Amino acid sequence: MNYQWYPGHMTKARRMMQEDMKLIDLVIELIDARIPFSSRNPDIDELGKNKQRLILLNKADLADERRTEAWADYFRKKGFYVVKLDARAKNGMKTVGSMIAEACREKIERDRKRGIKNRPVRAMIVGIPNVGKSTFINTYAGKACAKTGNKPGVTRGKQWIRLNKDVELLDTPGILWPKFDDQMIGLRLAVTGAIRDEILQTEEMALWLIGYMRKNYPGMLKQRYLIAEDGGTEENSSPENAEEVSGEWKKAEVALLAEIARVRGCRLKGDVPDYAKAAQLLIDDFRSGRLGRISLEEPEDAEKTK
Ligand code: GDP
Repeated sequence: MNYQWYPGHMTKARRMMQEDMKLIDLVIELIDARIPFSSRNPDIDELGKNKQRLILLNKADLADERRTEAWADYFRKKGFYVVKLDARAKNGMKTVGSMIAEACREKIERDRKRGIKNRPVRAMIVGIPNVGKSTFINTYAGKACAKTGNKPGVTRGKQWIRLNKDVELLDTPGILWPKFDDQMIGLRLAVTGAIRDEILQTEEMALWLIGYMRKNYPGMLKQRYLIAEDGGTEENSSPENAEEVSGEWKKAEVALLAEIARVRGCRLKGDVPDYAKAAQLLIDDFRSGRLGRISLEEPEDAEKTK
């Protein structure tokens, strides 16, 4: 397995981001609410160290609400402003707007005392690929947004999107690359669709997901596929580490995948279950939210890997 993609692009992107940081007051970082730990690159903490920080827990519509709340608390305690979000929905944008204002209140006050009026807060969106950066910009700024740019000496050719009278957004989001320090991160990124499917076999992802769901969300597979999900809360039914991911599988997970194949008519010649097809179906159901609202990480997972 090779997780090292585009190292050249990464270095260049990082350098560009460093330059862009000089132009902004606030970093708006999107992470995936289902995997807040794995979808974050902690390098951003160094890059944005003197900036105000807002975290958007995006795709919250797909995530487990209780866990998303726990993650919001986790990041607030670390000093971030946090908003739970579905970037496709217009109605969350008001909350984002007021959070930006709150995060930058001090700066606005400082400007006012110095007699600087109407200088908008400048912000930049950052996040890993597919986390929803463009969706967020489109929903927030809409079609009506005015592009400003080329203000001599200030923006040096940068394009800014005027969100409202108080906020301007750099129109190109900063791309962060996920950190693949441990194989579990790669696995969670693959299951949520943040990285390309070729990196891991669909069956491996599906079997891991089945194990995770039996342990953390017992009954949900049964509800979706109308199959027997015996021993859903049984201890050690879920492979937790990478060896198990690429090695031996517990019979229970394989049996459940065979059940899904059976009820969904995924069959090869000779009435053999088509595991690959059933696995793809399960992963698609997970990614689209048809399985239900599921998160693959809790704040404790972040603390464990420190
Ligand atoms: P980018 O690479 O970070 O710019 O990601 P995109 O904005 O292209 O989004 C990637 C995919 O995620 C698209 O299919 C979006 O429709 C979807 N998406 C973005 N935000 C959300 C969200 O909050 N909820 C859900 N369910 N899907 C989202």
